[in-house]
Amino acid sequence: MSDRPFEIREDLRAIPPYRAPQADATIRLNTNESPWPPPKEFVADLIDRIRKTDLNRYPDREARALRQGLGARHGWPLEGVWAANGSNEIIQTLLLTFGGPGRSVLLFEPTYGMHSHIARVTGTAVVRKEVPEPWVLDLETVTWGVSFDPPALTFICSPNNPTGNAHALSVVQAALDAGPGLVVVDEAYGEFGGETSRALLDKYDRLVVIRSFSKSWRLAGARIGYMLAHQWLIEAIQVARLPYHLSALTQTAGEVALKHATAVLSGVAEIVAERDRLSKELERVPGVEVFHSDANFILFRTPRDGTSLWKGLAEAGVLVRDFSQVIPRALRVTVGTGDQNAIFVETMRSVLADAG
Ligand code: PMP
Repeated sequence: MSDRPFEIREDLRAIPPYRAPQADATIRLNTNESPWPPPKEFVADLIDRIRKTDLNRYPDREARALRQGLGARHGWPLEGVWAANGSNEIIQTLLLTFGGPGRSVLLFEPTYGMHSHIARVTGTAVVRKEVPEPWVLDLETVTWGVSFDPPALTFICSPNNPTGNAHALSVVQAALDAGPGLVVVDEAYGEFGGETSRALLDKYDRLVVIRSFSKSWRLAGARIGYMLAHQWLIEAIQVARLPYHLSALTQTAGEVALKHATAVLSGVAEIVAERDRLSKELERVPGVEVFHSDANFILFRTPRDGTSLWKGLAEAGVLVRDFSQVIPRALRVTVGTGDQNAIFVETMRSVLADAG
C-alpha cells in the first residue's frame, strides 16, 4: 500500500518514473548529450535576442519563425512542422492525440524506454515485438507486426537507442504499406548516421519524422524537439497541445541555433570520427564486445555482470548507462571528447582487470 493521501490513476501505479541518474561524475557519458557547449557566437547572439524579448507577453503560440526555419532546413512547409519542449513532448503529443484508451502502439524492442513509458501514461496499449540481436529490423517482422493487429501508431527508432544501429528506409516503407496507422520514425540521432525518412514524406501522409536539438545541436538544456509531418496531422494535434507550450526563451534559442546552424552542428563530424575511434579502442579491451553504432553512443557487452561494472566505473568517476536489465551484461557509453573517451577506455581496462 502506498502512503499517499490520495492515490494516482490505477493504471499508472505499477509504472516506475524515468530515473536516469544525474550524478556528479567527473566524466558524464550516460545521457547522449554533446560533450561541447554550443559555440560562443551562438551564445552571444542568443543573449542579445533575449534582452530584446518582451517577457511580459506570451510567446507566439504557433512558434511560426522557428517552424519556418526548421521547415526550410528540410525543404518542408511550416504547416507540416511542429516544435515542442524536446522530442519527448512531441512523442507525448502524438500519443495523446492518436493513442489513448482502446488504441495501441507497436514498438520494436529493445528501443528508447520513453516510447513505452509515455504510451502507458497516455493510456495507450503497448505491443512489443522483440527484435533479436543484432537488432536489425527486417521487412517480415515489420510487415507481420503491423498487419497482424494494426496499431494506431508504429514507432521505429533510427538510429535506435540503445543499440545504436540505424534501420533501412525499406522497413519504414513496409510499416506504412502494411497497415492504416501512423508510422513515427524517431530520428533523435539522425544527424550522426543512417538514412532519414524525410524523403518518404513526399509519398506518405501517415508518416511522422521526429528530430531533437538535444544531441547534434548541443542544446539538451534548451529542450527543443520537432516533427515533420503532413499538414492534416499538425492540425490534428492542436487539440492536445497546450497553449503557449513553447516559451519565448525556447523559441528564441531554436531560432538563433538555426541562424548559426553550421557552427552549432560543426561538432557532428568530430563526434562521428571519435565514435569510430572509440569503437576500435574499446574492441581492444580484453573481453569487450562492441556493437556497431550510427549514433553518438556505443553499446557494448562484457563477460562481467553489467550493474557491478557500471558501479565500478561510477566509483572511478565515469558515468555510463547500465542497460543490463534490458540486454544482459550490456552498457551504453556516450561518445565524449577525445580525452574523456581515453579516460573511459583506461578506466574500463582497470575496472575489468580488478575484477579478475
Ligand atoms: N528519442 C530518443 C531515441 C532519445 O534517445 C531521446 C533522448 N534520450 C529522445 C527521443 C528525447 O530527447 P529530447 O526530449 O531531449 O529531444
